[in-house]
Amino acid sequence: MTVTDTRDREVLSQTLKNLPGDIRVETGVHSPVLLEDTDMVVVSPGVSLNQPFFDLARERGVEVIGEIELAFRVLRPYGIPWVAITGTNGKSTTTTLIDMMLTRGGFRVITGGNLGTAITEEVLRCLKDDTAGDVEYVVVEVSSFQLESIREFAPSLASILNITPDHLDRYKDMDGYIEAKTGIFRNQTSDDCLILNLDDPLVRELGPHAPSEVFYFSGQGNPLTSRGGVTPPIPRGAYLRDGWLCINADGKEDRIIRVEDVRIKGIHNIENALAASLNAFLCGVDLDVIRDVLSEFRGLEHRMELVEEIEGVGFYNDSKGTNIGSVIKSLEGFQDGVILILGGRDKGSDFTPLREYMRGRVKGLVVIGEAREKILGQLGGVADTLEAEDMADAVAKAYSMAGAGDVVLLSPGCASFDMFKDFEQRGEVFKESVSRLKKVLVV
Ligand code: ADP
Repeated sequence: MTVTDTRDREVLSQTLKNLPGDIRVETGVHSPVLLEDTDMVVVSPGVSLNQPFFDLARERGVEVIGEIELAFRVLRPYGIPWVAITGTNGKSTTTTLIDMMLTRGGFRVITGGNLGTAITEEVLRCLKDDTAGDVEYVVVEVSSFQLESIREFAPSLASILNITPDHLDRYKDMDGYIEAKTGIFRNQTSDDCLILNLDDPLVRELGPHAPSEVFYFSGQGNPLTSRGGVTPPIPRGAYLRDGWLCINADGKEDRIIRVEDVRIKGIHNIENALAASLNAFLCGVDLDVIRDVLSEFRGLEHRMELVEEIEGVGFYNDSKGTNIGSVIKSLEGFQDGVILILGGRDKGSDFTPLREYMRGRVKGLVVIGEAREKILGQLGGVADTLEAEDMADAVAKAYSMAGAGDVVLLSPGCASFDMFKDFEQRGEVFKESVSRLKKVLVV
């Protein structure tokens, strides 16, 4: 076995130390000569498949797969159903909810993928402990990049939460991005289920193309009523009715929980809650368990996390808001008085759709990172705007624009890699900057 990484050996030294001695290592390049005695190439999720090395591999008949596909094939003899969640936004929240509901419902589950641990690592652990035979569900969060490298992967239950522009720097256009997302149901059969967002026009349209049984969820109202071009009306799914989250998966409507009793807030989180509940219900989890999880789960770190209040100004960390769609959802949670911190590494995004959501809501804008100039060009004039050098400066400047009752919202709409290791570190630095500001101000 060979590990190949285009980064320099010095950068990788820590990682390489953990590799068993019998593994060949190549750094700085992916050399074509490696393909001469190779049967299969397994690609890490972060690596783009648009590289000559992978084209060459395919030309030579060498199979190229990703880690989800590898894990799926390794576990196939055990016949365990897979639950897979994809979408532009909400994947981690929904995957976590499903994991909690299944686990609380008494099922033995392994969960991973794009969220937390790689699923291959979880599978390896099970094989080592000899517990793979006990696993009842594998739950995976799958990014569109990971879907590019599946071949036979066929989840029993697949969900597409939403499709809005993201990563257009890696895809030629939206069609390429949509094509990647549909991979999640390509190998399903009529015994499998697909859960789609009825409120998302791109996702809704996919229903008739699926080989599996399709269910819908809707955060806007009752999908049992025909609307939005979907005819005949959707027979089954999860939806809101009279202020309740409801499920109708088998011809009978069940009420799960009132909207206000769901602990995570915002319409996007109600959508995540509906999708997760439907998944859990179809896996056989009791409604009581679903209700308990929805009333208790406080949400994940770095997703609209209320960090602190200083002199009546609330500070929200939404560092995971890395694309325009998620910034819009986060802004929709507020009526007015928002000081928005935006910026980072641009992913080829168009920021102009934010104008409409900023008007009336955003009274101040603080721009950071590489995307500063572009954002100033596209959003200049919508609100009072300041430029900041780093996160501490951004927090201080945002606070200077806020008054009691306002909120400072870090929802950058960009990747973090220009200034930080990842979105988690960006969120941590934001939180540290806020608590330092508090120490200075509140003596
Ligand atoms: P993902 O794993 O897909 O990145 P997360 O659950 O981590 O999704 O949420 C990331 C951000 O996306 C959140 O901070 C929130 O602003 C936004 N978001 C969450 N759920 C949704 C949704 N269903 N629709 C749109 N935006 C969402």
